[in-house]
Amino acid sequence: MEDCVFCRIVRKEIPASIVYEDEEILGFKDINPVAPIHLLFIPKKHIATFFDLAPEDEALIGRLHRAVVQVAREMGLEEQGFRLVANCQRGGGQLIFHLHYHLIAGRPLNWPPG
Ligand code: 5GP
Ligand code: ZN
Repeated sequence: MEDCVFCRIVRKEIPASIVYEDEEILGFKDINPVAPIHLLFIPKKHIATFFDLAPEDEALIGRLHRAVVQVAREMGLEEQGFRLVANCQRGGGQLIFHLHYHLIAGRPLNWPPG
């Protein structure tokens, strides 16, 4: 996807603070953090929303969750925990239409969110 911001980060056309990378997945710091720790995890493959997931993406999404857990563990979050958020479609707060998860931590996180 030519103009997709996250595809451009995958192609290293836009700089990002990368915290995790493998062949299929990228994790990087959110440019506008809402908490002391605010990371984004994306599949390198362009998938716009959850509604665009194909059966063959099942393993990819599983590995993406495992990457989140690996980084969370490395950051010492196993005890205090974290929030994993995925906004879907405009009504769900999605601004970038390349599937991503927000890992948020480092401050008290109330539920339900405001
Ligand atoms: P959404 O509302 O789509 O779930 O969240 C998109 C997130 O991407 C926002 O938290 C926003 O701060 C972040 N973001 C947007 N553009 C960039 C960028 O160029 N670099 C980084 N690192 N994060 C971005
Ligand atoms: Zn994309």
